[in-house]
Amino acid sequence: MALLPILRYPDPRLHKVATPVIAFDAALRTLIADMAETMYEAPGVGLAASQVDVHQQLLVIDITDAKDQLQVFINPVITWASEEREVYDEGCLSVPGIYDGVERAARVKVKAQDASGSFFEVEADGLLAVCIQHEMDHLLGKVFVEYLSPLKRNRIKAKMVKETRGLEREAALKAAGRRY
Ligand code: ZN
Repeated sequence: MALLPILRYPDPRLHKVATPVIAFDAALRTLIADMAETMYEAPGVGLAASQVDVHQQLLVIDITDAKDQLQVFINPVITWASEEREVYDEGCLSVPGIYDGVERAARVKVKAQDASGSFFEVEADGLLAVCIQHEMDHLLGKVFVEYLSPLKRNRIKAKMVKETRGLEREAALKAAGRRY
């Protein structure tokens, strides 16, 4: 297993649209294991393949405190959404440190495939419903900050760009340091 680098907003690769998973093979199982490890290590409750620069329709989610109930959604489709909507404070591993309210359907039914390609359907509410909708947005190239006002979004973008530059400078200094 391996930790995968997570793309940081506003990386343009976060806006790529994912394509369906076709091969349910060993490479897919390795990707799922690596994504789960990356999500747990971060730590986060969900991760879309788009966030690790793999543009296929694949999500891993675990909303339990014990981190022992991994759920894998491949080629997910929302088949029903409640008219009732709820606002939740959301965060994202691609926008670390930023939390803000997003309104979404309170309950959804999702049809997806598991790692072996078998179809299943779940009805979700609460945090799971939020998480599924948030991660499915990633597959469409959408990051949650795009629901916020342009003013907020631009502030977040500027903060993230500054932070990313700082991280890159740090990494460069560290790499240079190794040569001496
Ligand atoms: Zn996210």
